[in-house]
Amino acid sequence: MLSDTHISPHSLSMRVTGPGESLVPTDVVISPPEPGWVLVRIMATGVCYADIATASGKSASPDHPVTPGHEVAGVIETLGDGVTGWRVGDRVAVGWFGGSCGHCRWCRSGRPVHCPDRKIPGISYPGGWSERITVPADALARIADGMEFFTAAPMGCAGVTTFNAVRHAGTPNGGRIAIFGIGGLGHLAIQFASRMGYETIAIARGAEREPLARSLGAHHYVDSDAMDPGEALQALGGADQIISTASTTKPVPGLWSGLNPYGRITLLGVDGGEVPVPVAQLVTKAQAICGHRTGSPVEIEEAMNFAAVNGVTPWVERLPLADVNEAVTRLREGHARFRIVLEPGVTGD
Ligand SMILES: [Zn+2]
Ligand SMILES: [Zn+2]
Repeated sequence: MLSDTHISPHSLSMRVTGPGESLVPTDVVISPPEPGWVLVRIMATGVCYADIATASGKSASPDHPVTPGHEVAGVIETLGDGVTGWRVGDRVAVGWFGGSCGHCRWCRSGRPVHCPDRKIPGISYPGGWSERITVPADALARIADGMEFFTAAPMGCAGVTTFNAVRHAGTPNGGRIAIFGIGGLGHLAIQFASRMGYETIAIARGAEREPLARSLGAHHYVDSDAMDPGEALQALGGADQIISTASTTKPVPGLWSGLNPYGRITLLGVDGGEVPVPVAQLVTKAQAICGHRTGSPVEIEEAMNFAAVNGVTPWVERLPLADVNEAVTRLREGHARFRIVLEPGVTGD
């Protein structure tokens, strides 16, 4: 039984009612959380490329209507039965990982993001473009002390993805990491790589991005319009890891020649395309190409703690939740720099 009688049983949620349709504000009645789940009042909620696929019905979307959104930061409002370790009022983040079975091989080995029964906010249940969200308690990450909600929200997806991509690559201390792309993922990857002590090379199109890349912490900048990025990396001594954050795989073949022996290319962007692999080079130089995808709640906490201690900050543009259609349009058309984060409870134009 709910003792929190002051809680509104309603939530303004942005919903897509059919494939290709716009998001419409909908007043949704919120049921008390099931056992093991919690109700979170959302303070900040990010907009990610994957949400666009969810909204358009291109990903493994549930039946419409759907409420996308998987970069949530907020405050626990109600605990379902049996939830331990969390209290009403705790500041929490929820990312692409939205809960898992807890007993499969992947869950028991601390890699629940690969659980076959893993849930994803916005796909498995209504997501975060809303005033409130109900999630399994095992999806919760505790927000680092002093971190703003608008900083915490992108950490659940873009933040933990880039953090893990850098730290799990095994690049030795003193090594060199190149990051292709300076967008929502790339601007975080540059910060994480440089704060972890790696010599960091930013690669992007056009000379005008150089001051930006350097302000994020890059030690070198390669304008891929003006020079061959593989040759430019060679001239800098070669990269021990190359992280491609672009939403297209087209630039990847041009990066291989800049990879050092034992180096790895890590792909974060997905476009459904294919990458030709130079097998002779891969074999003779003991190189690798791999993907990297999101992280668990514990890893989100580690990303937030690292960010708080080392001054990694998502560059965020705030918009009212009511302006979500504008946010989606700008992201889709490539006019959104870095990360757009929506604010519930703020009236749009
Ligand atoms: Zn995402
Ligand atoms: Zn599992």
